[in-house]
Amino acid sequence: MITNIKIVGQSRLENIIVIGAGFSGLAAADVLSAAGKQVVILEARDRVGGRARTEQLADDIWLDYGGQWLGPGQTEMYELAERLGHTTWPMFVKGYVRTIFSGRIGKYRGSIPYNLPLAGQWSLLTAVARWYWQSWRVPTSSPWKASGAAELDAMTVGDWMRKYLPHKDARSTFQIAIESVFAAHPDDISLLHALFYSRSGGGFLSLTESAGGAQQDRLQRGAQPLAESYLAVLEKRGVECHLKQAVQRIEQQGEEVAVYSETEQFTANRVICAAPPALAAEISYVPPLPDDKLTCLQNLQPGCAIKCFAIYERPFWRSQGWSGSVISDVAPFHTCFDVTPPNEQRGILMGFIEGRDGVRASDYSPEQRRNQFIDALVSFFGSEASKPIAYYDHTWRDDEWARGCYAGVAPVGHWTTVGYQLREPHVRIHWAGTETSTRWAGYFEGAVRAGKRAANEVLSATP
Ligand SMILES: Cc1cc2nc3c(=O)[nH]c(=O)nc-3n(C[C@H](O)[C@H](O)[C@H](O)COP(=O)(O)OP(=O)(O)OC[C@H]3O[C@@H](n4cnc5c(N)ncnc54)[C@H](O)[C@@H]3O)c2cc1C
Repeated sequence: MITNIKIVGQSRLENIIVIGAGFSGLAAADVLSAAGKQVVILEARDRVGGRARTEQLADDIWLDYGGQWLGPGQTEMYELAERLGHTTWPMFVKGYVRTIFSGRIGKYRGSIPYNLPLAGQWSLLTAVARWYWQSWRVPTSSPWKASGAAELDAMTVGDWMRKYLPHKDARSTFQIAIESVFAAHPDDISLLHALFYSRSGGGFLSLTESAGGAQQDRLQRGAQPLAESYLAVLEKRGVECHLKQAVQRIEQQGEEVAVYSETEQFTANRVICAAPPALAAEISYVPPLPDDKLTCLQNLQPGCAIKCFAIYERPFWRSQGWSGSVISDVAPFHTCFDVTPPNEQRGILMGFIEGRDGVRASDYSPEQRRNQFIDALVSFFGSEASKPIAYYDHTWRDDEWARGCYAGVAPVGHWTTVGYQLREPHVRIHWAGTETSTRWAGYFEGAVRAGKRAANEVLSATP
């Protein structure tokens, strides 16, 4: 039942509602409020940050259950962190990466697992080179215009891997890389989408690397506190953020847009929707969205990832020469990282369960996931890993306002049929969110860039 009607600001022509207080919605509100617009943010959750979720366990010990890393090329995020006084530091990568392939336990340093058999290394290197060549031919603002787009969009990444990665271990390594970037199985991802996404993030290695890539740096105190600091700055400028206001319906009539949550109605002149596409598709729209727009939003269902954390008295693996990073073809933990805080008060290892494994493991109890993680860590780092002092995890599939992660994944046929609708305004509704970005789509950086782009769209459309 609607109990309250709010008109945003004094003059309706000046006012904008932003749906979603993730980094994208906050960046949109930043640009609009700096231009003198009155902005109200409506957020479904009881907190800001969206897919950035941080739990503070003690002074200087925190867990980022959602996004956590920044890397070279993510200029908006580094600038934002600096502006808000949040420092970054590089993830620990000194030492060997542990590997398990086809039952062989091994190790390597650097980027390419040189401990693969020679034929596997060759297969991997030629496939990565081909991937670069193909992704560089996809225009990130209009993937549907890529040469051979229909063919690329009709194939899955899995089809491509079966064609160009004949060596089993090379294929496993590539699959682990794909799942760690998309949190989805290669057979569930359009090849055109994966090529677009790779290029938008600076290329395959830029997305998969730690030092020099997207997993390079972490934010001191975590990612959610950065979103909280961002909101605090915006609130000083007059931006209002209403939490626990899940938008259910948007009605446009003339110059007015009425936005309804369960209990309140807000009215403004324009709306920016910065909710993830799959959730934006569930809002009801009057007039209705064009069929292609609705399909475009519905298609972009998120992948699935669970982050599991084991906390130890100290990062014991470091003194044994391990970086804490792992690549393994044994399900469900294919990758693992050292996420120890900078002062090393405790040692923390974080493992991902992703894609179809993630879907299965979301139904397990935390106890089952804990036992699986500890068993995996013992197989990677020995018996010292068997006694963590604590375990935590978060299943994003069960998160009502994300439904998965890291971002929406396009199935075959998406880009060449309805992809053109991604950023098309629906009368007075504009679209933000990381999925709509042409650079670093799927990342915090993409979220900020998309929010700013949507805000500038609104500014050029309003008098
Ligand atoms: C486990 C995990 C690991 C990741 N790792 C990284 C990483 O290391 N580096 C990186 O750059 N990125 C990473 N990401 C991705 C990154 O978190 C996202 O790209 C980014 O947070 C998206 O921001 P956004 O503002 O577009 O969307 P969101 O953060 O999802 O914000 C959208 C907001 O809209 C709200 N909302 C939804 N529906 C409604 C509604 N009907 N009404 C009102 N509000 C609504 C949601 O509650 C949410 O707060 C990761 C994500 C996850 C989950």
